[in-house]
This record gives sequence, structure tokens and C-alpha cells, in this order.
Amino acid sequence: MEQMINFNKPYITGKEVHYIYDAVATGKISGNGKYSNKCHKYLQKRYGFKKVLLTTSCTDALEMCALLLDIKPGDEVIVPSYTFVSTALAFVRQGATIRFVDSRPDHPGLDEDKIEELVNDRTKAIVVVHYAGIASDMEKIMAVSGKYGDIAVVEDAAQAIDSFYTREQKIVPLGSIGHLATFSFHETKNIQCGEGGCLVVNSDEYIDRSEIIWEKGTNRAQFFRGEVDKYGWVDIGSSFLPSEITAAFLWAQLEEIDGIQSRRKKIWTKYYDALLEWGKDRGISLPYIPSYATNNAHMFYLLCNSLKQRTRLIKYLKKNNVLAVFHYLSLHKSKYYSSYYDGPPLRNADKYTNRLVRLPLYYELSEKNLNYIIGLLKEFR
Ligand SMILES: *Cc1c(COP(=O)(O)O)cnc(C)c1O
Repeated sequence: MEQMINFNKPYITGKEVHYIYDAVATGKISGNGKYSNKCHKYLQKRYGFKKVLLTTSCTDALEMCALLLDIKPGDEVIVPSYTFVSTALAFVRQGATIRFVDSRPDHPGLDEDKIEELVNDRTKAIVVVHYAGIASDMEKIMAVSGKYGDIAVVEDAAQAIDSFYTREQKIVPLGSIGHLATFSFHETKNIQCGEGGCLVVNSDEYIDRSEIIWEKGTNRAQFFRGEVDKYGWVDIGSSFLPSEITAAFLWAQLEEIDGIQSRRKKIWTKYYDALLEWGKDRGISLPYIPSYATNNAHMFYLLCNSLKQRTRLIKYLKKNNVLAVFHYLSLHKSKYYSSYYDGPPLRNADKYTNRLVRLPLYYELSEKNLNYIIGLLKEFR
């Protein structure tokens, strides 16, 4: 292969520029206009979310959650350690102490059985990450929340668009179960608009305030619906909403969601089928999908048998012009937070930090390149 095969390439449907042109021609390019509303309505209808508000990132949506939950110094928030910084950062900014949970032995997502031991009187929220778009066991998590007076559950569903939790023949979209949820439309995610995200509100108690926090602490949204005579400053908030240019781009992507998902799933399945036996021979494991979860093909990862093997594998692929990457360094060991961490070792989180590697997976990855990557892996000793 002469040209480098990138780790990611954001997919463009072709309609983005058309809708942006339309937004510009209409003259309404600040936020909360036609395209924002199309996206809101589409997501609400398709996934049964009570209320959706587009944001400029998933990080922003998580910050909105911290404001909605009135997180204050002294409060504790339970967060997995093996995740992106923003999952914890949004709450740390409000002064919360983070109680980190380990990953599952069989999956990088948080260990649902280790949440309850971290709960105390100061616990204000449990933040769940559906790692790789694979559902955490929401029934177990909601049961812990319910047992201790309905602790707020936030689903960080950044990677989990169009993925589901299934139990007893019921299939429930991720992001519709927790009190609040957040999605990312960053260019590395399945559906993207460069930088973007959304907040999902499932609990009635947060709906009115979410609109106010979204629009700089004003009741502007109520005013435009004719519910109040004038609008003004009524609460805290920030400018969390994206412009119509971003929303128009995102609309083009949402219209194509089924095509995007089916292409990604095809690539994912090809990797899986081709590498299952190969992995067994080398002590390399493939992603595990629990019976209650669906796969949205956000990510294809391999779990090496050691840090040494992973380093060798990444180097081998790179020498042959394929970019494979690892990511998260456990947050409890991060430069910023490790000095505040006084809990037990988190061995599974450390395992994924050291041994997980992600393979290229994107819409335009050609059959030829996919076969080339699989062929290369099969020759890896
Ligand atoms: C990508 C990601 C985020 C951050 O999303 P942004 O839209 O870039 O802010 C947060 N949490 C998880 C789990 C992610 O994968």
C-alpha cells in the first residue's frame, strides 16, 4: 500500500453544503432556527427522547448536565476511569469530587456491579459511558439509582448514536433511559458536523430549565412560544447552542443515518469474522457484545495480550502504512487528577489503557484497503 490508510476520515454525504447555502440564503444563521428544529424533532421522534437540544459539543452538553443537576463543591459524581476527559471534566468544573469506577473484565465500559459501593450521602450523579456504542447494563444502573433516592443518571452516549439496550424483547434506544443523556457529533463519531453534540432530557423536572441554561440564562424560548410577555435573565446558563450553519450540516448527516450505519456495520462485521480465529491463536481478543446490547459499529478494537505486543502491532501496521491508535489513559492516573485520587487500583481500566488498539473504521474505507489491513494482521507474529 503506497498511501497511508488513515485511522479516520469524516464522511460527507454531499448535501451539507446545499443545506448550509439554504440557511445562509434564508438569512437566519444564529441558533435555534429551521435546521436546529429539524434535528431536534428528528432525534425526538426516531429515538423517543423527550427533549433534544443541539449543543456545540458533547462536552458542552455534559456541562449543561452539571448545571442542571446543581453540582457544587462537596458533591460526588461516579464516573468510569476509562473514558474521555470530558465525562469527568464537566463535573469537576462545578467543584465535584469524582469517584472513579473500574471497567468490566470483559468490556471497557464501566463495571455495573462496582457502582453501589461508591454511593454515599454526597453522591449527586452516576455518569454512564456506553463505550464503543455498546450499552452498559442500564437496568442494573437504574436500580442502584432508584435504591438511593433516585440519584441522577447521565448517559454519556457520545459514541452511542443509533444503538440500543434490549431486555425481555424490548428494544430501547441508548440515551433514552437515564434522566439526562449527551451525544457527540464530533468528526470522529458516526454522525458528525465537525464539532457538535446534543443534550437529551428524559426527566420532566429538567425540561424547562434546560432551555434557559441553553440560551444564556434567559427565558427566550418561552417568549418565542408566546408563553411569557417578555424575556429576560432568569437563571445561570451559557451560550450552548450551535449556529444554523452547524445544524444544517448535521441535518444532511441525519438524513443519511441508515446508509451510514449499514456501511459501518458491514466493515465491523468483516473485521470480526476475519479475525476471530486469528486472534485466538495470538492471545488477542475481539470486542465483546453482551446479550442485552446492540452494536452501532462506532469502533472496532483489539485487546492485545500485553503492552509490548500492542506497541509491536501498532509499529508493524504503521510501517506498512496503516494507522491504528490507542486512546484513553485512565483518568484516575491522569496528570490533572491523579493527586486527588485515593481509591483502590483500577486494574481493568489499566488493562484497557495498556492493551487496547483501534483499527481504521469509516464509511469510505474501501474493500481493497479493508482486505489489505486484514491481510497484514494475519501475517503479524
Ligand atoms: C467524543 C467523546 C466525548 C466528547 O465529545 P465532544 O463532542 O468532542 O465534546 C465525550 N465522551 C465520550 C465518551 C466521547 O467518546
